[in-house]
Amino acid sequence: MFAKAPERRMVTVRLILFIAWIVLIVSLFWDPVTPVLTQPDSGTPFALSNKEVRVQGVVLEQKPYAMGARMFWTMILPCVPLFLMVFGHEAWRRICPLSLSSRIPYYLGLQFMRKTFNRQTGRVERKPMTISQDSWLARWHLPLQFVFLSSGVTARLLFINSDRAVFAFFFIGIITAAIITGLFYGGKTWCNYLCPIAPMQRIYTMPRGILETPAHAPKLPVTQSMCRTPGKDGDQSVCVSCITACPDVDLERSYWEIYKRPGSRFTYYGYFGMVLMFYVYYYLYSGGWDYYFTGAWTHEENAQLNQLMNPGFWFNGYAVPIPKIIAAPLAMGLAVLGAYALWCGIEAIYRRVARKLDPSVSDDKVRHHMFMVCAWVTINTFYLFAGRPNIALMPPWLQTTVNTLIVVATTVWLMKNIGRSQEDHTEETLASALRSRLAQSYDRLKDLVRGKRIEDLSPAEINILSKVSKGES
Ligand code: SF4
Repeated sequence: MFAKAPERRMVTVRLILFIAWIVLIVSLFWDPVTPVLTQPDSGTPFALSNKEVRVQGVVLEQKPYAMGARMFWTMILPCVPLFLMVFGHEAWRRICPLSLSSRIPYYLGLQFMRKTFNRQTGRVERKPMTISQDSWLARWHLPLQFVFLSSGVTARLLFINSDRAVFAFFFIGIITAAIITGLFYGGKTWCNYLCPIAPMQRIYTMPRGILETPAHAPKLPVTQSMCRTPGKDGDQSVCVSCITACPDVDLERSYWEIYKRPGSRFTYYGYFGMVLMFYVYYYLYSGGWDYYFTGAWTHEENAQLNQLMNPGFWFNGYAVPIPKIIAAPLAMGLAVLGAYALWCGIEAIYRRVARKLDPSVSDDKVRHHMFMVCAWVTINTFYLFAGRPNIALMPPWLQTTVNTLIVVATTVWLMKNIGRSQEDHTEETLASALRSRLAQSYDRLKDLVRGKRIEDLSPAEINILSKVSKGES
């Protein structure tokens, strides 16, 4: 549905979100407003209560705090995965403020260009640089981005969650990295090869978000979130082919290109471990769930960096003498590898069972089913924890509504995608291309299709009809 939104409007949306992001960053340095909301007598849902929160057996001292970190981690970020599944990859890529950051040099005309000789025109042209498709980065960007993401998530546990200055500099760093990438490389090189959020975008949308606009049938000149610019007669493509099988051009095609690649399985399965450990680690570190579910971890003023040498694990009143700075990455690494091994084991069992029931079932089909189920389990695991410090403040009926919405939406997404196959996509792409050709010979074919309109024929019927009409001519 976002694919058809005019670029002029979407640039404005991206810009508004970008400005809101800058305001959030500024508020991490200076925020005279939100601490009032957390005063014990403020009467807001965020007012500090007398409830004791213990971390490693010690009661955590809590004072009124600026809410920037809490708002971002427990209100804004938890909405993103569900947004992705419902509105699709095309929607996120068209509003993402980080994507806008990487395009700033392009919009300002500052992007470096390389000179190339065009043999057809005989002219020297200036084109933006792109990543070679034979390069290591082109082959391994997805697991590499997942490693960036896991490192960022671990850094949250260690440095970023509640230290507002570190958090602000983290944002500034990532915006700067996106701008620098956009200065040297064209298209959405940052989004496609480097952005740590990209694996999450892919896992929660591919092959199709619930409201994603199909890119292949009918084929449009500017599809999904393809790079574009406003033109006289509507948006025009400014694609510079920065990646093959671009997820902004045709998300589903991109999925069928990457789902068998080495590294995809590690990313899908390991991602589950990363999500789970990120939340479980609050328990392992503090010795209880209150630390996480009260949101106390979002406002340990100036304390997070001082905890780095604290015991990293606390079980039943006993400290495990591994410093937190080692324990968090260790737990995260083991969780990612453990989840990978676990899901590979489930995949092997599922393959065996599926083959017994249907000997013709292919490895590709098994892999696709596993990716869809893994993504569904991961997002529902995420929502067991994400946003809960705030959801817990809602009245029970609203909590039930939110929970129901999450399960229903993610299940609709699963149902929409689990039965899909690469053949479906290929057949529909072919049928879309053939439809207009067959429409021209409709008078000759009318009897064969018993008067049905060409637009009403299924892709399978179109492909058969095309073969028949070829045989006739
Ligand atoms: S639409 Fe073209 S330029 Fe934009 S990200 Fe995709 S391949 Fe790159």
